[in-house]
Amino acid sequence: MEFTCIMCPVGCHLTVTKTKNEIIVKGNACPRGEIFGKSEATNPTRMVTSVMPYKNKTVSVKTSNPIPKAKIKEVLFEIKNAPPIKNAKLGQVVVKNVAKTGENVIITGINV
Ligand code: SF4
Repeated sequence: MEFTCIMCPVGCHLTVTKTKNEIIVKGNACPRGEIFGKSEATNPTRMVTSVMPYKNKTVSVKTSNPIPKAKIKEVLFEIKNAPPIKNAKLGQVVVKNVAKTGENVIITGINV
C-alpha cells in the first residue's frame, strides 16, 4: 500500500507492507510517519472539522480526537442535524459521542 504522510507539510511518500507478523513502513523521514503508515494500513482515522450555525453567525467545530474514516459522513450528518447552540463557548461540547465513536464535537471558534 502507498500513502502520503499527512502528519506534517513535508508529505513523505510511504510504502506500507503487511507481512504475517508485522507491518513495515518505508519512506518516512521520521517516526511519526511510521505511526501514520501503520494506522492508515489498519484503521485510518481523521479529525473532522466543520461549522455550525450560531445565532446570525457560525461556530467552527471539530472532533475531540481523530475518528475512523468510515464514520466521517455519519459525523457530518450529526453535526448538520445537531440542536441549535444557545450560548457558545470555546471548548463546549455540541455533539456527545458523535456517530457512536466515543468522541465529542467541540467548538473551536466563534466566527463573526
Ligand atoms: S514522515 Fe515525518 S517528515 Fe515525513 S511527512 Fe510524515 S511527519 Fe513529516
